[in-house]
Amino acid sequence: DLRNTIQDLKGNIRVYCRVRPPLDSEMSKPLFNLNVVDACTIEVEKVELNSMSQSTRKGKSQHTFSFDGIFTPHSSQETVFNEVSNMIQSALDGYNVCIFAYGQTGSGKTYTMEGGCGSEQYGIIPRAFNFMFTCMEDLKRMGWQLSITASFLEIYNEVIYDLLNSCKDQSNHDIKMVNSKGTDLYVSNLKEEEVKSSHDFIKLMIFAQRNRQTAATLNNERSSRSHSVTQIKISAINEKLKEKYTSHLNLVDLAGSESGKTTQRMDETKHINRSLSELSKVILSLQTNQSHIPYRNSKLTHLLMPSLGGNSKTLMLVNVNQFDECFGETLNSLRFATKVN
Ligand code: ADP
Ligand code: MG
Repeated sequence: DLRNTIQDLKGNIRVYCRVRPPLDSEMSKPLFNLNVVDACTIEVEKVELNSMSQSTRKGKSQHTFSFDGIFTPHSSQETVFNEVSNMIQSALDGYNVCIFAYGQTGSGKTYTMEGGCGSEQYGIIPRAFNFMFTCMEDLKRMGWQLSITASFLEIYNEVIYDLLNSCKDQSNHDIKMVNSKGTDLYVSNLKEEEVKSSHDFIKLMIFAQRNRQTAATLNNERSSRSHSVTQIKISAINEKLKEKYTSHLNLVDLAGSESGKTTQRMDETKHINRSLSELSKVILSLQTNQSHIPYRNSKLTHLLMPSLGGNSKTLMLVNVNQFDECFGETLNSLRFATKVN
């Protein structure tokens, strides 16, 4: 279809922006101006008071950004998924796919990826499973047998943790990436669970979330300072056609992109900033067809190596706040998005 043709012309990455609405408890917070110019363009504007030598002058900070699409504070989880679902379709068709949520802490990344309570509020991850299981029925009629497995990982300070392993003993959590034969890569000791229904998946996701929360309680703020990766492996086989393929779908809730200021958290911030900038470097190198792609410079890009580049598709959702106090971080996120687009 037309959309795929456009995508082929512009490479395999698409970038969307999502602006989150204020919660009931945040209604009194001042907002900066945000105009949706058209389906792909937004304009953000903040009026600043510049104290000049004697008088106080009003200055305007205005910027325009373009994306493959914009989700406004009114866009529902369903609207977002409808735009994203062709990426899930691509994974079923045999492509490797990565979907990222990028943005400062509190901008709506987890809401976008996982969602809230009740099926209306389900985010991309549970909806992807519903979508896959619906498609599976049709594929079965055409002779395709699909098996789907899921793993849940967390990358914190450049250490990978398996969220399907109970986290009583933190030291057992660190898992290693092993390179076998050239570019083939697998993660040792990683638990992969077969998922046979959406219900199975939700149970698994809740289990992983609990593990993540336990770790977060042990280590304050960890959840906003770590990347959370849901890895889905799709294996398809058709006995009649004697064909088979495997594809990977990675759904990534990235660590908060805000710049940390306290010295106590400098280490974390350094790791996060590095892995986020390594991610953008990898995406940029792929976009510009560089011969060397620097996958191995961070755990995240190394882990995603088989799914970034080559026969793969990437989608980045940039989540932003419209609060006045977040203007600087919102600009940073929008600039990052423009860089990789
Ligand atoms: P992050 O993961 O980026 O730190 P969250 O997803 O936790 O941010 O979002 C912060 C808060 O805003 C949460 O309470 C979340 O439920 C709410 N929220 C985020 N996006 C939306 C949205 N589009 N609609 C309604 N509530 C949202
Ligand atoms: Mg979050």
